[in-house]
Formats: sequence, structure tokens, C-alpha cells
Amino acid sequence: MTLDELNESLSDCQACRLASGRTQVVCGTGNPHASIMFVGEAPGLHEDKQGVPFVGAAGKLLTKLLESAGLSRDEIYIANVIKCRPPENRNPQTDEIETCKPFLLQQIQLINPTLVCSLGNFAMQTLLEKKIGITKVRGQVFRLPEFILFPLLHPAAALHQGNLMTPLREDFQKLKRILDEMSQEPEQSSSAPDKPVQMDLF
Ligand code: URA
Repeated sequence: MTLDELNESLSDCQACRLASGRTQVVCGTGNPHASIMFVGEAPGLHEDKQGVPFVGAAGKLLTKLLESAGLSRDEIYIANVIKCRPPENRNPQTDEIETCKPFLLQQIQLINPTLVCSLGNFAMQTLLEKKIGITKVRGQVFRLPEFILFPLLHPAAALHQGNLMTPLREDFQKLKRILDEMSQEPEQSSSAPDKPVQMDLF
């Protein structure tokens, strides 16, 4: 199956209660062969209208942060844990995450990125499979069986809580250093672990 085929197969998804309130399923955007993927939480009002992740205020900030790390939206792939907008932008519920998670994992498998940057608590907890707070793990690097995970704060959180803007900017500078390092050493020498391992490499 290709990424397009997967995304197309989700266009009329009725797997959870969010189907009834959405305008459209928001699968993802960007380069289907990207080596870097970003995973947010769920579509908001603008994303639900346009069918594209991160096009509202948080998206505009994300675009700027990406540029600060030397990245353009075209070269990466951006998706969310949840593909349909929760009512009033409420937090995704556990069963909604469990229902939608296999689609995210399929997307990751098809794109096969080297590095996945999660944005916020929900994406980090979903991929790390740990109930831990984002402020504890943000900016750390984890080697997972299939990819390297770099958990970041959510740009929307920094828009609401100004004190998070500096750490968010710092983490994108760290991302720039990670990317520089990875471009010099594209092959991972260590074998893939069977559970997340924190890396001190960067
Ligand atoms: N916040 C997210 O987590 N995802 C979006 O697509 C937009 C805002």
C-alpha cells in the first residue's frame, strides 16, 4: 500500500465518534519520502476546514521554527496522532488515540523517516508508549526500534504560555544540531533496540 492509498482509505473513516463532527479527515502533508516527520496532536478549526495539518496560528509558528532549524515544510512530512478534529478542540480521548494510532504507525512505516519529532504530550506519549510529562522529556533523543524520536513542546502550548517559547526555540536549535550530525553520519552504527533507549549522542 502507498501513503496515498492509505490516506485515501481513511477519507470516509467511521472508526470513532469524531467522524460525526469533522468536516474532513486530515491525514498529513509534505514529502512522502521524507527522512524527518513531525507528529502533532489533532486538527483544529482551520485544519478541519482546509484538510491540511498545522495551517492555523500554531502552524504558522511551526513553519517559522522549522525555518530556524533549516527545514522547509516541503521536505518533511507532517501528520497528527488523531486525524479528525475533536469538538471544540478538546483533548483527544484515550480510546480515540488507540483507534487512530494504527493509522499513524502505518504512515510512519510507509514514509520510513529516520527522525520523528513529536509535538506536545499526546504525540510523545503515543510514540514513546509512556505516561510521562512532555516537560520531562522534551529536547531528549530516544532511539526506538524503527526511528529516532525527538520530543518537542507543542507550538500551541508556547502560544498560550509565553514562558515555553524560549525552550521551544532552543529545542529547534538542538534539532538543527542533530540534523547536522545526522547528515555527517547518515548510517546508524548501533543496532535497533527492542524498546526506547535514551541517547546522549547529541
Ligand atoms: N495542532 C495540532 O496538533 N495539529 C494540527 O494540525 C494543528 C494544530
